[in-house]
Amino acid sequence: MIPYVRELNFEYGVVDQVSPLIRRVVANNPSPFTYLGTGAYIVGRGEVAVIDPGPDLPEHLAAIRKAVQGERVTAIAITHHHADHSPLAGPLKAATGAVIYGCAVSGREQEDTGEVKMEAGHDHDFKPDVSLCGGGQVSGPGWTLEAIPTPGHTSNHLCYALPEENACFTGDHIMGWSTTVITPPDGDMTAYLASLETIRARGFSTLWPTHGPPIREVTPFIDAYIAHRQERIDQILLALADGPARIRDLVPKLYRDVDPRLHPAAARSMLAAIIHMERGGEIEAGGPPGPDTVYRLA
Ligand SMILES: [Zn+2]
Repeated sequence: MIPYVRELNFEYGVVDQVSPLIRRVVANNPSPFTYLGTGAYIVGRGEVAVIDPGPDLPEHLAAIRKAVQGERVTAIAITHHHADHSPLAGPLKAATGAVIYGCAVSGREQEDTGEVKMEAGHDHDFKPDVSLCGGGQVSGPGWTLEAIPTPGHTSNHLCYALPEENACFTGDHIMGWSTTVITPPDGDMTAYLASLETIRARGFSTLWPTHGPPIREVTPFIDAYIAHRQERIDQILLALADGPARIRDLVPKLYRDVDPRLHPAAARSMLAAIIHMERGGEIEAGGPPGPDTVYRLA
């Protein structure tokens, strides 16, 4: 079982000091994908960075600007290009003159199947001023953010380490309240599992996801997260041991315990797991990747 953490005391639009170097303002965009909303993090004092400013909501921009009144926003760091993370980067830059850091996505995510409503959608306009696709740093007085490429949830996902607090901003890569959605072709389970190991190996004391509360028991949490993915893979293998099947049939069986609104997303994550197993030679596909393709054990 994943030791989920879901308790969060906050008020929409009101800034909270959540660690010596970190403040948080939560946007009023709750949903089955964003949990209570997007948590925009402000790092430092005087000259600050904003991580994942969030959706382009005027009242959220106003709340962030109010939180940093009398200070200078020098950097906007984006974890990935989903609509609940990056769209406010442009307006916040226009208001503050800050430089946008992140990794632009390649064309792959454009291939939406159309059948499944994706998460909160993609922010196709997202383009950083400084590309950190290969890693890199941005710093200010008393703080450093180190970009850690963590593809999986999306191909361009970055986590940001804050070495001064041995902490890491994990975006949607690792979240305390839920597992993350992996939607092929931009999402990739093989890359995702490797990226979990990347963060695990760093030995951070605290993880700060964009949605929900921080994770303080980091290593046991990531271990459980990895074990959960392996369980899902084992369930699929077990189900296919009964005979060939389609994702459309497997999801209601294997995700009985999950909110049905999330079943389409679960189908995408199952597809990601199946593609991963196909690569590993464990599963064979009777057609192109999709919900109606018949899969069988290899
Ligand atoms: Zn996302």
